Amino acid sequence: MSDSIIISACLLGEACRFDGQGKARAEIIELLAGREVLAVCPEVEGGLPIPRPPAEIKGNSVLRENGEDVTKAFEMGAEKCTSAGLAANASLAILKSRSPACGCGQVYDGSFSKTLISGDGIFTRLLKQKGIECISDEQFLAYSDNH
Ligand code: SF4
Repeated sequence: MSDSIIISACLLGEACRFDGQGKARAEIIELLAGREVLAVCPEVEGGLPIPRPPAEIKGNSVLRENGEDVTKAFEMGAEKCTSAGLAANASLAILKSRSPACGCGQVYDGSFSKTLISGDGIFTRLLKQKGIECISDEQFLAYSDNH
């Protein structure tokens, strides 16, 4: 089986974000033409609805602004999507930046004040543990521009 590329489904325009919108990146869709891609949304796979209240990473937990702990849903979604990626023989994931699930290198700090800190989302952490290379949409586009 040929290698697939995992991609955050919202980057392909799927309206699965917390606000009920997608985040289509036309440049990425173009660059991936002809490649086998596996689009996943770990928050939705974890059972969270669309739309849903925003959540942020706080240490190893994911919390909503009212303090509701949604870590379990994020972990379940991460496990399901990672298993799908491994089954598809994926070695690379292109992930929506700053998301508490898909964030790669930077996430919001849990204060809901748009403050960024170093770190990965729950899905990204698991992908990395399984040896899948992770890159954010922004890193991917910057890399493509320079090569
Ligand atoms: S969990 Fe990932 S794929 Fe789903 S909406 Fe958030 S960033 Fe996009």
